[in-house]
Amino acid sequence: MAEPIRIHRRGDVSLGALPPLSLYVHLPWCLRKCPYCDFNSHEVASGALPEDAYLDALRADLEAALPQVWGRRVLSVFIGGGTPSLFSPAGIDRLLADIRARLPLEPGCEITLEANPGTFERDRFKAFRAAGVTRLSIGVQSFADAHLQAIGRVHDAAQARAAIEEAAAAFDTFNIDLMYALPGQDLAALRADLDQALSFDPPHLSIYHLTIEPNTAFASRPPARLPDDDLASDMLDLIAGRTAAAGLARYEVSAFARPGHRCAHNLNYWAFGDYLGIGAGAHGKLSFPDRIVRQVRWREPAAYMRHALQGRAVSNEHAVTAGELPFEFMLNALRLADGFELQLLAERTGLGLHAVDDAIGQAVARGWLQRDGGHLRPTARGFDFLSDVQQLFLPAAP
Ligand code: SF4
Repeated sequence: MAEPIRIHRRGDVSLGALPPLSLYVHLPWCLRKCPYCDFNSHEVASGALPEDAYLDALRADLEAALPQVWGRRVLSVFIGGGTPSLFSPAGIDRLLADIRARLPLEPGCEITLEANPGTFERDRFKAFRAAGVTRLSIGVQSFADAHLQAIGRVHDAAQARAAIEEAAAAFDTFNIDLMYALPGQDLAALRADLDQALSFDPPHLSIYHLTIEPNTAFASRPPARLPDDDLASDMLDLIAGRTAAAGLARYEVSAFARPGHRCAHNLNYWAFGDYLGIGAGAHGKLSFPDRIVRQVRWREPAAYMRHALQGRAVSNEHAVTAGELPFEFMLNALRLADGFELQLLAERTGLGLHAVDDAIGQAVARGWLQRDGGHLRPTARGFDFLSDVQQLFLPAAP
C-alpha cells in the first residue's frame, strides 16, 4: 500500500509511490485511410514504408525518454497504430530488442501487436510471435463483406476468418476487434457477426460502437442508414447477452475476456497507471513524486523522425493540475465493470476522498454508482450513462 499522499497546493501533488509503467509504441502507417478513423494514421505512399528510419527514430526517442522512467520496470508493451503488422517481423524483432536493451521488462511482460487481417500480414503472424510478441490484436470489425466495404476496410470476411485461425494457432492469447452500429446493420447481421467471432472461441473481444468523429471522411460525408440510438442500444444488449453466454466477461465498457485473458496493458490505463508513449503522435502519462505529466510526440511522421533524432520527440508536455485529477482518474477507472478500491485514487493522484465525495454522493443518489465500504463500481445504469457520471467529477467552474 502506498504512503499517505499530500497535496501542497493546486497543481502540485505528492505521490508516495509511482504507479505501474507500460510502454506504448505508435507505428503510424496504413495501406489506406478508413473513412471513420481519427487515429494518427497515414497512407503508405506506394510501398515506401520508411521502416529503418522510423526504427532509428523510435530508438532515439526511447533513449531521450529514459531519464524520465529511470529504474522502473515495464509491465506491458503495446505496439499500436496505424497498422503495425505492415512492419516486417525483422523490424518488430529489432524494435523489441531496442526496447529490451534499454528498459527492464517485468517477467511475463505482455507484448501486444495490432494487426490487420490482410493475407500478406497473416503470413507474418508466426514470425511476429517468434520476435517476442505475446498477444495479437486483430482488426476484424465485421465478417460481412458489405459492411466491411461500407466502412472502407481493405480486407474481406474470408481474410478475417483466415487471420483469426492463424492467430489462434500462433498465439496463446489474442483479441478480435469488432464494430457495431455499422451502416445498414440490423440485429440479425450483428448476431451473425457475433456468432462468427465466438465460433473461434476467442480469449478476448473488443467491440466498439462506430462513431462519426470530427475531421474524418465520414464527418464530411456521413454514411447512409446508420442505426439509431434505440437500435444501437438493442445491439449492445445483444452483445452483452451473447458474450456472457459464451463465457466472456465484460470487464470494461468495450472489452470482454475469458478468465486470465484480460489485457494487462489496457487495465493499466484504466487503473490510471503510467505509460510512456513513443512514436509519431503518441500520448504518454508519467508520474513523478511531485507531479503528473502528460506528453504528446510530434504527430506528422517526417517531423517526428526529424525531431526524435535530435532528442526532441515531445511536442507538448503539461503537468496535470490537482483540480483536473478527479475527472482524469474517473474517466479511466469508471470504465472498469468491477469498479475499484477508492484507495487507488489516493495512490494514483495524491488526492484525498474529500476531493470526490460530493460527486460520488450525487452519482450514488442517481443510481449510477454503488459504494460498498471502500469499493466503488458503476451500476448497470451508470454504465449506460457513463459520460454523465464522469462529468460529475469535472473541476468546478472558477
Ligand atoms: S486500419 Fe485502423 S488505424 Fe488504419 S486507417 Fe483504418 S481504422 Fe485507422
